[in-house]
Amino acid sequence: MGKLNVKTTCPYCGVGCGMVAFEGPQGTIKIKGDKTHPANYGRLCSKGASVHETLGLKDRLLSPVVHGKEVDWDSALDQVANSFREIIDKHGPDSVAFYVSGQLLTEDYYVANKLMKGYIGSANIDTNSRLCMSSSVAGHKRAFGADTVPCSYEDLELADVIVLVGSNTAWCHPVLFQRIQAAQKENPNLKLVVVDPRGTETGDATDLHLQINSGSDAFLFNGLLSYLVDQGSIDHDFVSNHTNGFDATLRTAKETCGSIKHVSKHTGCSITQIETFYELFSKTENVVTVYSQGINQSSSGTDKVNAIINCHLATARIGKPGSGPFSFTGQPNAMGGREVGGLANMLAAHMDIQNPAHQSLVQSFWKSPRIAKESGLKAVDLFKAIDEGKVKALWVMATNPVVSLPNADTVKKAIQKCELVVVSDCMANTDTMELAHIKLPALAWGEKDGTVTNSERRISRQRSFLTAPGQSKADWWIISEVAKRMGFENVFSYRSAHEIFCEHAALTGYQNDGRRDLDISGLSQIDSDSYMGLAPTQWPVNQNNPTGKTRFFSNGHFYTENGKANFIAVTPQEPVSVPDRNFPFRLNTGRVRDQWHTMTRTTKAARLNEHTPEPYLAIHPRDAARNGLEVDGLAKVSSPYGEMTARVKLDQKQSPGQVFIPMHWTSQFSLKARVNSIVNDHVDPVSGQPELKHTPVKVEPYRPNWFGFLLSKRELPLKDLSYWTKIDGAGFYRYEIAGEQSPLDWSDWARDLLCTEGDSINWVELADPKARRYRGIRMEGDALESCLFIGPNTLLPPRDWLATLFSKDTISVQERNSLLLGKSSEGLVDDGKRICACFAVGEKKILNAMKK
Ligand code: SF4
Repeated sequence: MGKLNVKTTCPYCGVGCGMVAFEGPQGTIKIKGDKTHPANYGRLCSKGASVHETLGLKDRLLSPVVHGKEVDWDSALDQVANSFREIIDKHGPDSVAFYVSGQLLTEDYYVANKLMKGYIGSANIDTNSRLCMSSSVAGHKRAFGADTVPCSYEDLELADVIVLVGSNTAWCHPVLFQRIQAAQKENPNLKLVVVDPRGTETGDATDLHLQINSGSDAFLFNGLLSYLVDQGSIDHDFVSNHTNGFDATLRTAKETCGSIKHVSKHTGCSITQIETFYELFSKTENVVTVYSQGINQSSSGTDKVNAIINCHLATARIGKPGSGPFSFTGQPNAMGGREVGGLANMLAAHMDIQNPAHQSLVQSFWKSPRIAKESGLKAVDLFKAIDEGKVKALWVMATNPVVSLPNADTVKKAIQKCELVVVSDCMANTDTMELAHIKLPALAWGEKDGTVTNSERRISRQRSFLTAPGQSKADWWIISEVAKRMGFENVFSYRSAHEIFCEHAALTGYQNDGRRDLDISGLSQIDSDSYMGLAPTQWPVNQNNPTGKTRFFSNGHFYTENGKANFIAVTPQEPVSVPDRNFPFRLNTGRVRDQWHTMTRTTKAARLNEHTPEPYLAIHPRDAARNGLEVDGLAKVSSPYGEMTARVKLDQKQSPGQVFIPMHWTSQFSLKARVNSIVNDHVDPVSGQPELKHTPVKVEPYRPNWFGFLLSKRELPLKDLSYWTKIDGAGFYRYEIAGEQSPLDWSDWARDLLCTEGDSINWVELADPKARRYRGIRMEGDALESCLFIGPNTLLPPRDWLATLFSKDTISVQERNSLLLGKSSEGLVDDGKRICACFAVGEKKILNAMKK
């Protein structure tokens, strides 16, 4: 264990909460919120609060591996560099690509981008942030001339109306939602409007929920612009002095959404609801409109972003306290990636890849032999190019495209065909790592050191407090070592993240003179002690703003050619694929509260797995009944791209005709639940962001011959099952299982499943083969080793009480007698289903307390 009492930043979402790692009892590491960090002032959500439970080395990749054999670093790095060099020499720079991640630190990202765009000479580096917020980037650039986030979190507290569009903030940015709720207590006049086709926890807490038809956001905001004009709510001075293109934009808005009746028809919301929202927006000076993946993940996401920004420009509600359009980013360092040019269509330091002046500026700063002059392949196109054999070498860093890309089975096949696949990651077993020819062990959170930028442009330090395990290395080190071996020794001889940060900061200020939004040149000379102690700071940090800046555009100056913001005329579009007779439901995907991305870290915290143990299909009860789906049964969900299986969850808040499936599950945790294997790969033509929230699908009941569950102290290799999902518990593994065939002998089958050779079996069982019922308990001494319950339907004993027995060294006689019943013995408390992950409170405990 390394140093303790270290301030750092949460590894999960774009809120960027500050944390303190400190020493707990018996040398354990604990985490608490950093009360001094301006993103969260000490608050943490359930994921952040349990991150210390994820620090173990289970499933870590700790040595370089080449073609299945552990090797030393020199051999692995030589192999990567030589293979890339050979492929480039033979097929040109565009035959190789990097696919990187919003989990990388800014310093890692900077080096990867410099190598690809400045030294290899291709722009084939794209990031998984393409999937979450590239439409916001494109919308910002069209409107402001730069990818600038105007607002700060404190604007949420200063607003009188907050509109949350396509954002389940309560689950996806929980600490910001806590801040909004606290602001509502302080300011009872603060109104919260939620625009979301899905009923969510965020919608539950709102004053007005506009449950619009999926994808109809641009109708709503075009209609709002038209309404604002009709009501005389336009700030004409601001519009004429600080903007371009208002008249044309208004004309389009009027033509497409000139009446509330028309907006109502397209959005599916009542005229009264729309009028209420429009009036609220029109009459309130301080309005913040937050938008997130529900807006971005669309084939017209950029237009939707601009439709929102148009309303803020028209009313001059931008650059003022409590006002502005505000994109919440998904990943911890999505913003840092944007800053250093991690997207294939950007250069470093927010410069434009197709701008000759920017090209020569970056090239002269880097002193590089070449510079990419055209956009590279954006994520979806990149994997298509791999499939077509155009890209022959791929280096994936800290991400899992086999799970997260749309049309994911095709992505998997493309990677399988690729001549050279390098994956650098801290985890040994991911769906993508399984396909790697060369595996490079990277440092994980808590071990690595650098900076991240959150949604409000705040740069914070992620500090290391653990020593590097095995042979793991920082991503910037790995990339630099490969670069040196490719012949670029002089310019990649970095000794620390600090050196890289200073170079990045210097580039942001290089020949800037206020012409570019991103300028942190004020940090370019900091020494290593100041870098170590760097306090969370909002950019820009330069001569004019030595301590950072809260919000942009207060002076009405934008980064376009004439310094004025652009209105963008938006013609609302339907999603590319719409439901039809064969695929009648619209599939929406997203996150659940207690999991993160492809679950590699969050599943290590048992209490997080209790919130949503299984992949599920949320469907309105009427739709479920019409399609023969039963609560807690299984559903087969299919689209033209593939099929998957998920547990059925009836949800009154789900709009009829729409279904929702979470994005997290991978082949490591469930047999067939990678939702992106059924998601279409249509993209926004401007941003390249895929339409992850609209795929027409069919849902059918999946009726296996039997259902069951299995709890075991050991992780088990499951085979020949029709369905399984693994849930990591505290001291045990839980598997929900189902089969299409009943075995000839349940006892033999159960032993085959649970026992290893040479086991001394202490086995108790009960079988009724005709009724497809089986119960088996396996003891190891006086402790429970595993138990298996099978039945013809989903009416099986609750898992929670049985799970508690795995923490006991000795099972009492009373408990043994109850084991086959699967029910709590008298005197023991069955807490019921876990409701609160933070404090481990069960449903029955809450209900009993309420009765008292
Ligand atoms: Fe971490 Fe986001 Fe939760 Fe904050 S809100 S603790 S950054 S996951």
